[in-house]
Amino acid sequence: MAGECRRCKKKEAEVYLPHSNLNLCSDCFLLLTERRVKHTVNAYKMLSKNDRVGVAVSGGKDSSTLAYILSSLFDKVDIFLIYIDLGVPDYSEHCLYKVNELAKIIDKELIIYSLEKDLGLRIGDFKSTIYGRKICSACGTIKRYLFNKISYDMGLTKIATGHNLNDTVEVLFNFYLEGNVESLLRMKPFLRRIHPKFVPKIKPLIGLTDMECLLYAEYRNLPIRTIDCQFSKGSRMLRRKELLNMITERMPTFMHSFMQSHFKRILPTLEAASKNREIKLYECTICGMPTSLKGAPCHFCKLISTLKRRA
Ligand code: SF4
Ligand code: ZN
Repeated sequence: MAGECRRCKKKEAEVYLPHSNLNLCSDCFLLLTERRVKHTVNAYKMLSKNDRVGVAVSGGKDSSTLAYILSSLFDKVDIFLIYIDLGVPDYSEHCLYKVNELAKIIDKELIIYSLEKDLGLRIGDFKSTIYGRKICSACGTIKRYLFNKISYDMGLTKIATGHNLNDTVEVLFNFYLEGNVESLLRMKPFLRRIHPKFVPKIKPLIGLTDMECLLYAEYRNLPIRTIDCQFSKGSRMLRRKELLNMITERMPTFMHSFMQSHFKRILPTLEAASKNREIKLYECTICGMPTSLKGAPCHFCKLISTLKRRA
């Protein structure tokens, strides 16, 4: 890339950010990326100084970037890395190796939950419970449940996840398409405690694109996985992401504008109109953890019972 860095005006520019029409050198890119994450954390008041935060790590570029930035910018906060080993052949061992390396680099404790050792199951076993859908829906339920349960049992005060701008816009876009108002109301950069056993969730990377997370991880030389999960191919989520990328190529500010107008304009209006529909959580009749289902087992316990019935 030709030309000097627009910020320092000293070094050669290496990164072009189309949404802000900026050419940056690697140092200025890293600095601005960290500032933007700090801005998101402060704008939504995501962290306070006595927080004990579990960072959900997967070996991917987003969660590695998140763990690195949080541990370097917020040194008053206690940080733990939590990895769920799903038992996907090759992939899970590869990711475990990467998160172990990351934990060493940032000097944080790594908590590992193995589906196989702790539950006697692998994610592939859940195929029979999903009635022709992608296994990712069961995987999402399992990971959400376990991250919350592990963090609750450890007395953590927040769970940080690596959802970035592309992920957030993809999910919002899907809820809009479905007209899924309940889920739109629940989808927030900072989901506060809505039940005593619900650990608040934060998404500090929602202002960064996929590409920015990847470049950050690469420039910092963070250990990130180089293979994909065998179940990821052909998902609807990937197709929607491709579509959004096509729009963004023509309109570089599309994703930023979409997210801004949702969180700043549409969500407050939806919240005001749905005052009587506040999100309620109940306790699972099997495990006692929070669930949106009244007088019934939570989605996780339902999956496990279905699997046991079929065994
Ligand atoms: Fe889970 Fe699907 Fe991701 Fe594989 S691709 S880790 S099954 S959500
Ligand atoms: Zn349950």
